[in-house]
Amino acid sequence: MKLEHIGIAVKSLEVSDDLFSKLLGKENYKQETVGSESVKTSFYKVGESKLELLEATNSESTIAKYLDKNREGVHHLAFSVENIFEEIKRLQTAGFQFISTEPKEGADNKLVVFLHPKSTNGVLVEICQEKN
Ligand code: ZN
Repeated sequence: MKLEHIGIAVKSLEVSDDLFSKLLGKENYKQETVGSESVKTSFYKVGESKLELLEATNSESTIAKYLDKNREGVHHLAFSVENIFEEIKRLQTAGFQFISTEPKEGADNKLVVFLHPKSTNGVLVEICQEKN
């Protein structure tokens, strides 16, 4: 596994893109809307890893619901693997709970699943695999 990206929930990509591009000294390399998740994302390369800023596109978005209860900030950690299906089996055998065990199309050409934070010390963990 490697740390693929850190997901950050933001209220406004416009405001946060300005902030993070100043912080990192470079522009995002892409913005992408993921319809199935009702989020608009903005990606920055940081060494081997990335930052993924996430803005809700409607009130049903998981990001909108998250921001109803929490402040803006770190939302999830994403680890990339070679084979997401094998990794799901391995983690299930190890006793981890998933929000869903069915990989979905995520941003940035990935298949993704999420582990339930109650089985990961309160940290929302995304497992992702590059689509071929
Ligand atoms: Zn992510």
